[in-house]
Amino acid sequence: MNVSDTRELKLYGIGASDGISIGQAYLVDKKGVDVIKRYVIQERTLANEIKRFKTAVSKSNNELRAVIEASPEELRQHANIYETHIALLKDKMLYGRTIAYIEKERVNAEWALKKVIANIKLIFQNMDDSYLRERIVDIEHVSELILRNLVGAKQENLADIDRRVILVADDLSPADTSQINLKKIMGFITDGGSKTSHTGIIARTLGIPAVMGLETATRMINTEDIIIADGTQGTVIVHPSEKTILLYQERQNRFEQRKAVIARNCDITAETSDGFRVKVMGNIELPEEVVAVRDHGGDGIGLYRTEFQYLRNHAFPGEATLFNSYKDVVEKMYPNQVTFRTLDINGDKVLRYHIDNYHEDNPALGLRAIRYCLKHPNIFKIQLRAILRAAAYGNLRILIPMISNCFEIKETRRLLDEAAASLAADGLLYKRDIEVGIMIEVPAAVIMADVMAPKVDFFSLGTNDLIQYTLAIDRGNRQVAHLFNPLHPAIVRMLKSTADMAHKHNIGIFICGEMAGDPLYTPLLVGLGIKELSMNPFTIPIIKQTVRSLNFKECQQFTHEILQLADAAEIAKRLQQNFGAMYYEEADVCEETVNGKTA
Ligand code: PEP
Ligand code: MG
Repeated sequence: MNVSDTRELKLYGIGASDGISIGQAYLVDKKGVDVIKRYVIQERTLANEIKRFKTAVSKSNNELRAVIEASPEELRQHANIYETHIALLKDKMLYGRTIAYIEKERVNAEWALKKVIANIKLIFQNMDDSYLRERIVDIEHVSELILRNLVGAKQENLADIDRRVILVADDLSPADTSQINLKKIMGFITDGGSKTSHTGIIARTLGIPAVMGLETATRMINTEDIIIADGTQGTVIVHPSEKTILLYQERQNRFEQRKAVIARNCDITAETSDGFRVKVMGNIELPEEVVAVRDHGGDGIGLYRTEFQYLRNHAFPGEATLFNSYKDVVEKMYPNQVTFRTLDINGDKVLRYHIDNYHEDNPALGLRAIRYCLKHPNIFKIQLRAILRAAAYGNLRILIPMISNCFEIKETRRLLDEAAASLAADGLLYKRDIEVGIMIEVPAAVIMADVMAPKVDFFSLGTNDLIQYTLAIDRGNRQVAHLFNPLHPAIVRMLKSTADMAHKHNIGIFICGEMAGDPLYTPLLVGLGIKELSMNPFTIPIIKQTVRSLNFKECQQFTHEILQLADAAEIAKRLQQNFGAMYYEEADVCEETVNGKTA
C-alpha cells in the first residue's frame, strides 16, 4: 500500500485479466452469513432442524441448476464448475457430517455446517496435492450458498446492478458471477482469488480487467468511490488524482487500440521481418478449450495436458471415453496438429482415486508422469490405445513427460507397439505412424539430449519444471517464487544447448512452458531458433504480433551476446534495452517507468 500527496491510495495484487478500467466501485456485501451463532436444539425439534438443513441444500441445488440453465452461450464451457458444486452439496463429507453433527451436538444447522466446513478445510489445507488444496474455494462457495439459504440472508442482488461499475468483493463464487449482468461490469477486484480462480478465468474470457488477491480491497474501498483497476500491472488506485486519471486514460486508450489491432490480426502468420516462421500454438487442459485456441488464431495445440480429464473424474476414464474426446479434439483442430502429452500424473497432480500404498516425502521427485505410467502399464496402455485410435481421425503427435532416462523412451515405444498390435487384433481403426517427442524438463534430459535426439521426433522444452528442477525451486512454493527466473543464465544455457542438439539432429524443438507465452522472452526464444511456441490460448495473438515485429538475425545476434552474461538481472536489462520500446507498447509499463524514473 502506498499513500501519495492526495488521498490517492495504491493497492498491489495479482493481475488476473489484462486491461484498465476507471470508474465507480460497487462493493459486494456478504451480509448475513458472516456471523453465525450457536443455538442448542431441543430433542423434540431435532428432526425439524435436520429437515431445515436438507431444505437449504435442496434449495441450493435448485439455484445451481437454474444457474447452469441460464448460463450465456459464451460461458457454457465454464458451467462444469456448477456441476462440481452440485456434487459437493451432497458429498458425504459435507452433507452427512453436518447432519451427524446436528444430531450429536444438538446444535443449529448453521453452526454444525460451519464447524464441519472448518474441519474439512483443515484436512484439505494439509494436503500435499495442490489441486485438492485449491478445492477449498469450491467448498467455501458451496457452504456459503447453503448458509445463505439457511439464515434466509437476502443475497445481495447482483443482477440488479444497473450502472457500469467495477465490482469489489471479498471473493466471487461462480454462482455470484453467474447472476451478474456482465455487460454492466467494467472490472473485477477481489481480496481473494488468483489468476486461475474462476472469476479470473471468466474475466479473461470476456476481456474484463481483473485484479485479485488484494487482501484489503473490501476494507479500503466503498461503493461509489472512484477507482482504477489495472489488470495488467495487478494494481488498484483508490481516489486517483486528476493527473493519475489522465495518465491511465491515455494508457487505457493505447491498450484498447492495440488490443483491437492484435485481435484483428490474430490469424496472420507469425513470421519475422526476415522470414523466420514461428508456429504459435495453444496449451489446453480440457477438450472444451479447443475453441479458445482456434478463436485466438492458434496454429495447433502444442500441449494437451491430458491428465486433467483424469483429475476431474472419480475413476479412470475408459478407453471409449478417452477415444471420443481425443477424436473430437483432433477433428476440431484439423488440419492443424494436436500434441497429446501422455498422463503427467502425481507430483502436484495426484489422482484421488489411485493413491498407491506409500507416502512420498517429495512428490515432485517421486513416481510422477512417465515413471507412474511405466509402473502401471495397464493404465498407460488404455490411454495409448485411445490416442492411436484418435490418430486415424486427424493430425496428432505424442509427447512423453518427465523423461530422464533413455529406457523410458524405449519402453514407451514398446508399449505403443503393443497397443497397436492389440488394436489390430481387435479389428479397430488406428494409426501407428505418428511422431513421438519428449518433454525436456529434467536437467538429465538436457545433458543427454545428444543421445536422446536420435530416438525421438522432437523435443518440447517444459520450462516450468526445467526451472524447478534445475534451480531447486518448488514451483508452487510462494517463499521462493522470487527466485523462479526463466532468465537465470543456467536456464538460458540449457535452452541453447537443447536447441543446438535438436538442430544438429534435425528434429523439432518447441517450448510449451509458461515462458513461451510472455512477450518479454520472445526475442530470446526466436534467437535460439525455436520454431514452435505453445501457451495459454489468450496470449497467442500478442505473441504472434511480437514475432512479426522481430528480425531473426538480430535476435540470433542478441542471443549470442546474452549467452556470455552471468547474471539474470543483466540479461533482463539487455532485453529491455534492445527490445524495450516494444515492451512499453506490449505491456503498458508501470507509471514510474513511463515518467522516466526507476520502478
Ligand atoms: C512444464 O513443465 O513446463 C510444462 C509445460 O508442463 P506442466 O506445467 O504441465 O508441468
Ligand atoms: Mg512439466
